[in-house]
Amino acid sequence: MSLIVQKYGGSSVADAESIKRVARQIAATKKAGHDVVVTVSAMGDSTDDLIDLAHQVSDSPDSREMDMLLTTGERVAMSLLAMAIKDLGVDARSFTGSQAGMMTDGQHGRARIVDVTPTRVRQALDDDAVAIVAGFQGFNTDSKDITTLGRGGSDTTAVALAAVLGAEVCEIYTDVDGVFSADPRVVKKARKLDWASYEEMLELASSGAKVIYIRAVEFARRHSVTLHVRSSFTDKEGTWISAKRKAGTMEEPIIAGVAGDISEAKITVVGVPDIPGKAAEIFTRVAGAGANIDMIVQNISAQKTGLTDISFTLPTSDGPAVLAVLEAAQPEAGFDSLIFDDQIGKLSVVGAGMRTNAGVSAQLFTALSDAGINIEMISTSEIRISVVMRADVLPEAIRVVHAAFGLDASEDATVHAGTGR
Ligand code: ASP
Ligand code: MG
Repeated sequence: MSLIVQKYGGSSVADAESIKRVARQIAATKKAGHDVVVTVSAMGDSTDDLIDLAHQVSDSPDSREMDMLLTTGERVAMSLLAMAIKDLGVDARSFTGSQAGMMTDGQHGRARIVDVTPTRVRQALDDDAVAIVAGFQGFNTDSKDITTLGRGGSDTTAVALAAVLGAEVCEIYTDVDGVFSADPRVVKKARKLDWASYEEMLELASSGAKVIYIRAVEFARRHSVTLHVRSSFTDKEGTWISAKRKAGTMEEPIIAGVAGDISEAKITVVGVPDIPGKAAEIFTRVAGAGANIDMIVQNISAQKTGLTDISFTLPTSDGPAVLAVLEAAQPEAGFDSLIFDDQIGKLSVVGAGMRTNAGVSAQLFTALSDAGINIEMISTSEIRISVVMRADVLPEAIRVVHAAFGLDASEDATVHAGTGR
């Protein structure tokens, strides 16, 4: 008998009616002869509501207690789902992350899975029941405390279970039909991808595509778990994510998709002495503030001054902490000043076909220039080109680039519930 792991995002279980609908779908999969393990997220926006509540009682909520609080959201969803499935004549049992053997390190709010021992999940399957596991949570064996895997972490729970249980596929149910060539809320004619490689999906996810959580894709790649991202509102086939495209399908397009991200800011360190060790000095400080740097650009110095400027991008939320450490370092590091800019947008085109096709960057820059859009920074990987621009022109830029690469579909994409999760 084949085992299928299904993950339902918050928008798929937002209310009682939706839970019953999802329960029918799970019962049908079970009745079709599969073993089924389900991972579920908290209902609708309830995680956000719990976070709001925490901030109403405390200015800086304790991280251990925050995890205790947030994990209740998934507990509500899993138990309701189990009840609804049982009513359909299929046995079901819900488990918290710790009951399901999801062991993590001790970093509250962003714990990493270290081991999974799903004894009780296996027992439920042996008893012919559907096992429902609360998403996004685990348990640290040293502290004996409950942890969470970070926002969107239910995807990772599902993939981890699929890996240890040897599932045939891990189905990620969401409120869009699959992974799109661009956000359908920005590009009406975005097309659904039939397939993407792990690498393409990782680049898309890290460039701002939100349909699946990046850590889950990393996990899937490492353990060769086949993913199927699809809508819980239709029975249409979604997007398959695996190492290799199924034989006999169409030739790979050069570009898989265009992603946009407005969550980053840019810091420019002006007038840095152009001598060995200055970049090391600056970025050691930045790392000390715990910030994750994305792009870095340094130009040659003007000969007369011997000074150069270094710009880098980072999550906007890390901006204040990084500015503080750099300001403190200024006398010693000897640069002139700092500029903080949180009005940037980043556009990325991603596609494995870039490796073997010349001219992708020329085509990208031409499309942007035709639309009168100014490029501020550029960075590339083997299968991605990213450009930074003003945030307010990003949606327009995504649309023109999507069209320029011939990605526009003939029909408008459907968005069912509207959050993309
Ligand atoms: N409920 C959690 C969140 O909203 C986890 C998840 O949805 O995957 O981030
Ligand atoms: Mg959620």
